[in-house]
Amino acid sequence: MDIKYLKGVGDKRAEAFLKLGVNRIEDFLSFVPRAYVRRTTIAEARKNVGGNVVIFGKVTFVKHPSRPQHPVTIELGDGTGLIEIPIFGASEFRLKQFRLNESYLFYGKVADAYKGYNARLDYRDHLKLNTFDEFDRDFLKYPVLPVYELSGLLKATWVKPLTLTRIVFNAFRYLLKNTQFPAEEKLPERILEEYSLPSRSEAILRINFPKTLEQVEQYRKRLAFEELFYLQILFALKKRSIKEEVKGISFNTDIKTLTSNFVKTLNFELTGAQKKVINEIYSDMKSGKVMNRLLQGDVGSGKTIVSLFGMLIALQNGYQSAFMCPTEILAEQHFSTITNFVKRFNEVSGLDYKVTLLIGGQKKKLRQEILADIKSGKAGIIIGTHALIQETVEFANLGFVVIDEQHKFGVMQRAKLKEKGLNPDVLVMTATPIPRTLSIAYYGDLDVSVIDELPAGRKPIHTYLKKDTAKNEVWSFVKENLRKGRQAFIIYPIIDESEKLDLKSAEENYKNHKGNIFREYKVGMVHGRMFWYEIEETMNDFKAGKIDVLVATTVIEVGIDIPNATVMVVEEAQRFGLSQLHQLRGRVGRGAEQSHCILIAKYIDEISGKRLETLCETTDGFKIAQVDMEIRGPGEFFGTRQSGILEFSATDLIKDSDVLHKAKEVAFKIIDEDPHLRKPENKIVREVLLKEHKDSMYLMNIA
Ligand code: ADP
Ligand code: MG
Repeated sequence: MDIKYLKGVGDKRAEAFLKLGVNRIEDFLSFVPRAYVRRTTIAEARKNVGGNVVIFGKVTFVKHPSRPQHPVTIELGDGTGLIEIPIFGASEFRLKQFRLNESYLFYGKVADAYKGYNARLDYRDHLKLNTFDEFDRDFLKYPVLPVYELSGLLKATWVKPLTLTRIVFNAFRYLLKNTQFPAEEKLPERILEEYSLPSRSEAILRINFPKTLEQVEQYRKRLAFEELFYLQILFALKKRSIKEEVKGISFNTDIKTLTSNFVKTLNFELTGAQKKVINEIYSDMKSGKVMNRLLQGDVGSGKTIVSLFGMLIALQNGYQSAFMCPTEILAEQHFSTITNFVKRFNEVSGLDYKVTLLIGGQKKKLRQEILADIKSGKAGIIIGTHALIQETVEFANLGFVVIDEQHKFGVMQRAKLKEKGLNPDVLVMTATPIPRTLSIAYYGDLDVSVIDELPAGRKPIHTYLKKDTAKNEVWSFVKENLRKGRQAFIIYPIIDESEKLDLKSAEENYKNHKGNIFREYKVGMVHGRMFWYEIEETMNDFKAGKIDVLVATTVIEVGIDIPNATVMVVEEAQRFGLSQLHQLRGRVGRGAEQSHCILIAKYIDEISGKRLETLCETTDGFKIAQVDMEIRGPGEFFGTRQSGILEFSATDLIKDSDVLHKAKEVAFKIIDEDPHLRKPENKIVREVLLKEHKDSMYLMNIA
């Protein structure tokens, strides 16, 4: 049936629904309520001040406003009492709209009433219901009503919250009367039985029109299970297809000498966690399957050196490695540390490996030389920014790809760099630890390695929160440290580098630091609007100790490594995100000296307060990530959405980690036992995949 014939819809609204992707009545089954309201009697409502309720009753009185700006007040009765409902605006219309002795459903918030007076309801919406109409009669049987997200398109056709609720109800009623199972099942029967899950039809019906509010969660989780199940099926297939069909490189030369030369080159002892991860990477590289590994390790845990080991293995096997960084300063910094290391490594082992830097803004002639070296294979390790994935860059034989600070890149960029090689092994690294639930949900196709140990001798950074008014105290503290020969960062918020106002304030502060507060010291500045070589120059000066205080914006957020810097001051800390502050703080605490992080905040609201408090309490990146996810929600957690693969409507990753684990287990088991989904009992999974997840399968490169 065309939805325009559905009770309550009609031509205009049908058009609006069409634009929202609702073409058929069955499409209403995918609606998920945003909230629920209980239906109560007036007597019950009186005891529930502040609560949202719907009340069904008869109009007993319509009070005219005594002045034009006053509301029309409806008095409603239901046999248990009376309640007054003032409605502001359009009084002429309202007076005609409500008729004495007729029945209406009112939705609103119960307001406090003076003793002895009638209770009052703050009006939100109402519906005229006709108890002789069978649709309306059935509608009234439900003690809890769903409320849906109301788009502007619908509002334009006079759809109000309760109107939409009733339309959805009518759709459900129609489907229930006309089909045996209104919603097609998507999970194999065996799984439903094994985990005693209700049918899809029942779950959909009950999250929309529950018998009690308490039962909603159980049905929502059933639908969440299904969403997560299919996501995990995709991941399981992806993993399988990588293993089976795509042949990777087998880096199988002997690494005994390489290892001992590597250790000789290091001027420190690797941590146990680093060794463990190096082994994980090596065993992936040795095998013929393509490595897809996510390396998580807190700031300063020493990820770079671990990835370098992988790059050296690739080189020894005659392959190039690419190392992609999110910013130019970071690429520059890695270039310098990796070059230094490889130089010493070459000396120790009598080799001649070449490290190259490719970033935007390099002189044309230089760039052409670099591109030629990459193409000829002369360049063994190529470090760069997203310049690496441009079409003009051709590799001789790219075998190993490292992506640093993964959270800054999207999936598409990941895929592009991979395409430049013949199924190279890929190591993505992130210092923003991802809560376990999220890493399973977003990176289900990756293997995960964790460096959960900091190099010995690191002292946990002390973190303090200071009021804006205590700045002088902060500056004396900074000076105390400068006198001891240490260096300091002072960070200003330019969250969006195009913010002119922010830049101005950062620059003014810089002038004040340079000419006034820290006039006896050397003060430098870097911000994102400078050219990379200007930033590089200043950073090198800072690294060499030619600058004592570096005023900076978040361009230094990731990766920068200056062990002698022990003080990090962040002004207007309330404006930064939690993970961002954690990253900034990670710029200090990299040497043996005690480091300090001072957060200066002007105004603190509940959320920024929680962020700053968390930071003062812990330096554990995983704990911080968990809180960050809870504050921001899983979708926002990554900044920009990482992929189009993940679109949940019933799932709430914060609440559903149990469901996620179960879904993962079940999905991987199915693909393990029946990789091509040929068994009759899995037929349904195959069909749903082909019908609904073709795009994702294409995106994920699943054959
Ligand atoms: P991140 O994991 O944040 O990228 P880096 O790889 O930049 O960390 O390492 C941070 C610093 O720690 C570097 O100066 C590096 O040389 C040093 N480092 C790495 N591993 C160790 C170790 N096992 N012992 C001592 N210092 C180490
Ligand atoms: Mg790093």
